[in-house]
Amino acid sequence: MRLISSIKEMSALSERWRREGKTIAFVPTMGYFHEGHLSLMREGRRRGDVLVVSLFVNPIQFGPKEDLNQYPRDLERDKALAQKEGVDVLFVPKQEEMYPSGFQTFVEVTELTQYLCGLSRPGHFRGVTTVVTKLFNIVKPHIAIFGLKDYQQYLVIKRMVEDLNFDIEIIGYPTVREADGLAMSSRNEYLSPEQRKSALSLSQGLKLAQALVNAGETNVQIIVNRVTNFIKQFPYTQIDYVKICDPETLEDLTEIKDKALLALAVKIGRARLIDNTILEVKK
Ligand code: AMP
Repeated sequence: MRLISSIKEMSALSERWRREGKTIAFVPTMGYFHEGHLSLMREGRRRGDVLVVSLFVNPIQFGPKEDLNQYPRDLERDKALAQKEGVDVLFVPKQEEMYPSGFQTFVEVTELTQYLCGLSRPGHFRGVTTVVTKLFNIVKPHIAIFGLKDYQQYLVIKRMVEDLNFDIEIIGYPTVREADGLAMSSRNEYLSPEQRKSALSLSQGLKLAQALVNAGETNVQIIVNRVTNFIKQFPYTQIDYVKICDPETLEDLTEIKDKALLALAVKIGRARLIDNTILEVKK
């Protein structure tokens, strides 16, 4: 595995691979790898001739009061894990090279970002779409893999790729969970053992909602109230949102007809955790 930090070097290598007719698979990350990241890498390994993983804690997608400085980092451990997965290049660009002084160009998806995390994290998706555009231009992938744990991010990236005619196939990979259901996240690191127990309220809340739907409940308000009350019973939980919406447009629903996205964001101590599922009415 090669560790590359120079943008020029990464770009030249991708250029060469493309000339050689190789299919480039790409997994963008902020590092501190867990099994979710590693599963995305394995998917990339399967789909591409060569696999690039980027590791960049992107400052412009964090709000001023968010956890940019505390975000967990361990490059040595990440290097070893990526190497084990057969990653060809771990691309770790420098902040000064990604955002040199004078930087002033941003990419924005205007509508899908008006919901869910877009409301509680103003500017977040603009930071994501801008960095992903830059990474796409540098790495020049044919295929890029994103986790469905960040479902809104996946939709926003798909929209951007379609709207701006990026010739890149975007793959959504299902959420990888701990044995007890907790969605894997680098931010789980922030949880104390007691908070870790409360973090289970998210995945269990999703299950509760699907059970209600299975029992015939289709009224969104009723399901949202039940899930909200369920999560509130757990200590340390501070709900940011519990939303049931259209899985493509993210617009609010009042009734679940066929499929709906249930998305949760809950603060537990200093960890802001998200999780989601597609609720399905079985006919
Ligand atoms: P991050 O490093 O948190 O920015 O995540 C990098 C990529 O891994 C994103 O596409 C995430 O959606 C994805 N990811 C994070 N956690 C999980 C998970 N538990 N299961 C699947 N994909 C994940």
